[in-house]
Amino acid sequence: MKFGGTSVGDAECIRRAAEIVARAARESLVVVVVSAMSGVTNRLIATAQNLAQGKRDVDDLSTTLRAQHFAAADVLVADEARQSELKAELEPITGEVANLCQGISLLRELTPRAHATVSSIGERLSARLMAATLREIGLNSVAVEATDVIVTDDQYLQAEPMMDRVKERSNVRLRPLLDDGVTPVVTGFIGGTVDGVLTTLGRGGSDYSATTLGAALEADEIIIWTDVDGVLTADPRLVPSARLLREISYNEAAELAYFGAKVLHPKTLRPVVQARIPVWIRNSFTPDKGGTKITAVGHPTEHGVRAITAIPNVSMITIGGPGIVGAIGVAAKTFQAVASVRANVLLISQSSSENDICLIVDSADATQTVKALRSAFAADLVHHDVEHIIVNSDIAIVAVVGENMRGTPGIAGRTFSALGKSSINIIAIAQGSSEYNVSFVVEAKAMQDAVVAVHDEFKLDQAADVGL
Ligand code: ADP
Ligand code: ASP
Ligand code: MG
Repeated sequence: MKFGGTSVGDAECIRRAAEIVARAARESLVVVVVSAMSGVTNRLIATAQNLAQGKRDVDDLSTTLRAQHFAAADVLVADEARQSELKAELEPITGEVANLCQGISLLRELTPRAHATVSSIGERLSARLMAATLREIGLNSVAVEATDVIVTDDQYLQAEPMMDRVKERSNVRLRPLLDDGVTPVVTGFIGGTVDGVLTTLGRGGSDYSATTLGAALEADEIIIWTDVDGVLTADPRLVPSARLLREISYNEAAELAYFGAKVLHPKTLRPVVQARIPVWIRNSFTPDKGGTKITAVGHPTEHGVRAITAIPNVSMITIGGPGIVGAIGVAAKTFQAVASVRANVLLISQSSSENDICLIVDSADATQTVKALRSAFAADLVHHDVEHIIVNSDIAIVAVVGENMRGTPGIAGRTFSALGKSSINIIAIAQGSSEYNVSFVVEAKAMQDAVVAVHDEFKLDQAADVGL
C-alpha cells in the first residue's frame, strides 16, 4: 500500500492511513510505502535552489520541518516516552537539513547528488511518523530506508531500479520482517546505488517505489491510496465532470501517466506488467469506495476513447530547412543530440511540406536540448541545409487515450472536428503506432478548452463502461 502526500498530509490523515493499513493487516501481509507530507518535497527543493542561487532570505526549513513533524508526533503518539523516542528519530533528520542547507549555501551549487539527498528528507521523516502511528494502534511496525532496498543506477534524480537486486534486497530486508509479523514502512521516492548512495526516482516517484517493491515481493495486489476516487476520464481540475473509470488496462494507464495524468508516475506500471499484478488507485479519504483497478485486459468500451490528458510546461523545438526532409541521418543526428542531454522526448512529428522536424520536450530540458542541437547541426546551419532551430514554450500536449482505439475508425476525425468547432488551433499532431493514443499540440492557453471539447465530444462524463 502506498500513501501519497495528501494522504499523509497531517496527523489526522496519517491516522486515517494507519487505520487502513491496520484493517488490511488483519487479513494479509502489508508493506507500506509513504510519500513526504504534502508540500514538503516542494519546499525542500525550492529552498535548496534558492540557497544555490545565493539568496539569503530563505526560510529556516530545518526548524519549520522539525516543528511540523513534532506537532504531528504529539497528536499521533500519546505516551510521552514513546513520543520522545519518535522525536529522537526525527531530530537528526531535520538536523541534516540544516547541514545540507549550509553546505549548499557555502558552495552556491546544487549537484544532482545533493539535490537528491535534500529532496528525500520528507519521506525519511514521514516513514517514521507512520511506523510510530501503526505501533500506536497495535501493529508491530518499523520504518525502512529504501536506500537499502531499491537498488538503482546513479542517475540521482531519475534513478532506475535494478529489479534483480531489488528482489534480493527485498528478500533480505523486508521478507523476514513480514514473516515475523512486522509491517515495514518504506520511504517512497528514494533508492540507493549499489554503494549505498541515495538516489531518487523522479518527482512523484513513490508510485514507482510501490510497484517496484510489489513486483519484487510478488505481491497479490498493489494499492495506491491518493486524494481522488481513482483514475478519472480527465484531470478533475480541468474537467469537473470527469468520471471515475472502474477498470483500465496497463497500457491505458501507462499512456495516461506518460501524457501527464499526475495520479500516476509515468513509470508506475512497468514493474507489474509481466507478473500481471493488479494495481488499484483508491481514495484514502473515502476508503470504502472501490477505486480503479488496473489490469492486463482492462475494460473494453464501445467507442474506445477512455480518457483525455494534458501536459503543460513543455516546449516544441522545430528544426527546419530545405536539407531536412529526405536527408539521410538528420533524424538520427537530432535524436542523438537530444539523448546526449538525457532530455525526454514526449512527441515527434515530421512534415514533408514544411521541411521540418519538430519534437517536444519538458520545458526544463529545452535550453540544453537546443544547445546540443545547434552544436550537432553547426555545419548544416552554416550551409543553410538547416535554416533554423527554434523553440516555442507556449504550448501544451493533449492526448486522447484508449485501448480499443486500434481499429476504431473516426476517432482522430471526431477529435479534430470537435477542436475546430471550438476554434482551437492545432499546432502539431502525432499518433503513436500503438494506437493507444492520438496526441496533438495546442497553444498553452487553449489547453483546458481542448481537453473539455474532446471530453464532451466523446461524452466521457456519461457512464459507458459497466461498473464492476
Ligand atoms: P499523491 O500525492 O497521492 O501521489 P498526486 O497529486 O500525485 O497524488 O496525484 C493525484 C492528483 O492527480 C489528483 O488530485 C488529480 O488532481 C490529478 N489527476 C490528473 N489527472 C487525473 C486523472 N485522469 N484521474 C485522476 N486524477 C488525476
Ligand atoms: N515526495 C515526492 C514528490 O513530491 C515523491 C512522491 O510524492 O511521490 O515528488
Ligand atoms: Mg503522486
